[in-house]
Amino acid sequence: MSTATLSRLGSKADFPGLAGGWHYLDSAATAQKPQGVIDACTAALGRDYATVHRGVYARSADMTLAFEAAREKVAALIGGQPQELVFTRGATEAINLLAYSYPHKGRVLLSTLEHHSNIVPWQLAGWQVDVCPLTADGRIDLDAAEAMLTTEHTMVAFAHVSNVLGSILDVPRAVELAHKVGAKILLDGCQAVARVPVDVAALGCDFYAFSAHKLYGPTGIGALWGRSDLLDAMPPWQGGGAMIDRVTFERTTFAPAPQRFEAGTPAIVEAIGFGAAADYVRGLGLTAIHAHEAALVAQLRAELARRNDITLFGPADSAGIVSFAMDGVHPHDLGTILDDGGVAIRAGHHCAQPLMDHLGVAATARASFGLYSDESDVAALLAGIERTRRIFG
Ligand code: PMP
Repeated sequence: MSTATLSRLGSKADFPGLAGGWHYLDSAATAQKPQGVIDACTAALGRDYATVHRGVYARSADMTLAFEAAREKVAALIGGQPQELVFTRGATEAINLLAYSYPHKGRVLLSTLEHHSNIVPWQLAGWQVDVCPLTADGRIDLDAAEAMLTTEHTMVAFAHVSNVLGSILDVPRAVELAHKVGAKILLDGCQAVARVPVDVAALGCDFYAFSAHKLYGPTGIGALWGRSDLLDAMPPWQGGGAMIDRVTFERTTFAPAPQRFEAGTPAIVEAIGFGAAADYVRGLGLTAIHAHEAALVAQLRAELARRNDITLFGPADSAGIVSFAMDGVHPHDLGTILDDGGVAIRAGHHCAQPLMDHLGVAATARASFGLYSDESDVAALLAGIERTRRIFG
């Protein structure tokens, strides 16, 4: 990896959460926040604070403009239009919204590598769930998907990037297969949106779900992007203020999308932080971020592949995420020993128990990079693995 690539990306110094030389390798769980995002949230919660959409006074009007500008910034990051972007509590709520509110409930095709939040909502909302298997190197097997899809499928819902394996979906092919049988396609973009360039218009998908906190923004907010014609045809799923047109006891009519899906006072401060995060990431460029993380993945995988006590999961071209197992060492023990050395990884099932079953393991160790990660983090992880081996003998 060239230092030129590194210096173009966000410096660790921009991220107060990384102070003290912490080697944070859990960005797939949640990303650290740049100072600019923290500042935007602080101003929105302090100096600029007021409600949105209802106030007749200037501060509220200004806040409404800032809130709607955030929607524009987030939509622009994924190549969408603001009226197509519904703010939700996160990717989980976005997928629940779609699973409950999509008017043509039928069969949904998921895959073995999905996060629980792209499995359980479909089950709870009463969909018939089919499961597409994986290829040997841990990608969604689109040949199998083609063979499985029928006109009974009204939805395909696949992770754009796997949170465990880092595998990147061949989106154009997945879209084509879904549309060939008349199904719509949701991409769970939770990991992808911070790691690979996303352009929903060019990709041709129908829905896209993601969370701000994995995109260097705050917790408590995310988005469901959907094609306007599809969102307009969906009924509201939660009632309350802000989502109506006219309320009487006899009959209530609803606001157009996206407001129809945003009942109640929104997460104003978080939305503004989300917008700041989207701007920050756009400023660095997802092509550069992807290249930066790919170089770190290649470096780490090459080092781990040299060890005969390590099993690597997932494809070599994974996006910023490396899952592995160490012979004779439970991932939780590895995680604890690494933590003693100032290295944070994730150890567990990563909310993907069906994938763990498929891999034949109860848990994996997962190192995941962010735009602030560098070779020093890889070196610290490798040193910690070496120390663990000495402890376990
Ligand atoms: N999908 C994927 C692929 C994820 O990685 C995550 C978070 N780990 C989610 C969905 C759920 O996101 P959230 O908890 O922010 O709603």
